[in-house]
Amino acid sequence: MAPLYYSITTEEQNVSLTILSKSAFQEFVARLLPHYRVVGPVPHDIGYSFEEIQDVTELRMEYPTTILPPKKWFLPPKETLFKFTRKNGGVIQDPPETPPTVILGVHTCDLHAIQLLDTVFSSGQYDVHYMGRRKKTLIISIECLSPCDEHSFCKDMGTLTADEGYDLHLTDLGDSYAIDVGTQAGADLLQNYSSSSVATKEEIQKLNAVINAKWPKFSYRLDFDVSELSSIMELSMKSPLWEELGNRCLACASCTNVCPTCFCFDVKDEVELDLVTGQRVRNWDSCQLDDFATVAGGHNFRASRALRQRHRFMRKGKYILDAHKHLGCVGCGRCARACLVNITPVSTFNELYRQQETGSH
Ligand code: SF4
Ligand code: SF4
Repeated sequence: MAPLYYSITTEEQNVSLTILSKSAFQEFVARLLPHYRVVGPVPHDIGYSFEEIQDVTELRMEYPTTILPPKKWFLPPKETLFKFTRKNGGVIQDPPETPPTVILGVHTCDLHAIQLLDTVFSSGQYDVHYMGRRKKTLIISIECLSPCDEHSFCKDMGTLTADEGYDLHLTDLGDSYAIDVGTQAGADLLQNYSSSSVATKEEIQKLNAVINAKWPKFSYRLDFDVSELSSIMELSMKSPLWEELGNRCLACASCTNVCPTCFCFDVKDEVELDLVTGQRVRNWDSCQLDDFATVAGGHNFRASRALRQRHRFMRKGKYILDAHKHLGCVGCGRCARACLVNITPVSTFNELYRQQETGSH
């Protein structure tokens, strides 16, 4: 994939490309705070997470990765879909409306994942809960200039940059940010709350230099081109690797819980002891849990961990692509960091490729 801005020249200077000094960016965020719920990367003892901030000093725009992806602001781990009561002839109460929200500092891998989720939740059964939050949210993403760590493989998956999916997109030029405007809402945000200026010839040259310098810092980690992944997976249904992964897997669901592209959920009614009021709740679910595929009569159609590992990786490498035209894995590496037994997408995909190359299954 061609790097963003790679070919921008002063003659082609895009009027949407503007500059905000770092101090002006702080002022911009401070001006947003009274009008928006502002969410961004915040440090904790064990890593970073996307949290609502009250003050711009809480933000860390130069963070490696977050434990959970920004997905949690569109699809919370647990949410009330509605409350109900049998009083007054039966009443259904909708949850409170989402306030207008700005999410800052979204990396491009997560941006690609959000685009997948937008497709999933807006097609077929339109999900008013996800889409309601999504429509109230502006995304200000940031270009990654170095890998998060050794688990990232965004370059392989084509998510190391993005040319859509954001309202504003920042590139760190050292003492300022170059800002690409992605939507009219993003342009309005800049105009109403910031003192940005149109990029000069020198700033565009600096931007091109920064972008050109970033690509060699990221290495390819897959032994094949990602365009082959779907067919590799298709031919891997009977691979002995699934049994091996199943024997190691703890069925803890950490991998799916941290994944920006996993979207399975469970819905339950919670009824109060008075048997009059209650709520319908939605929780994240995981295909890696032992009873995920248990259906009526107690039958579990994916009872073994080997089958569930196969299902997980088939979704990441093939099924989601077939169904939604987006890859089901964006190469963020979160599942590899989270897995206690070192089951990783890179080692799994590479081993399946090796088996096919050597004819060993
Ligand atoms: S499968 Fe792993 S590397 Fe791929 S998007 Fe999910 S968490 Fe990230
Ligand atoms: S994190 Fe690792 S051990 Fe836990 S369910 Fe996922 S693959 Fe299995």
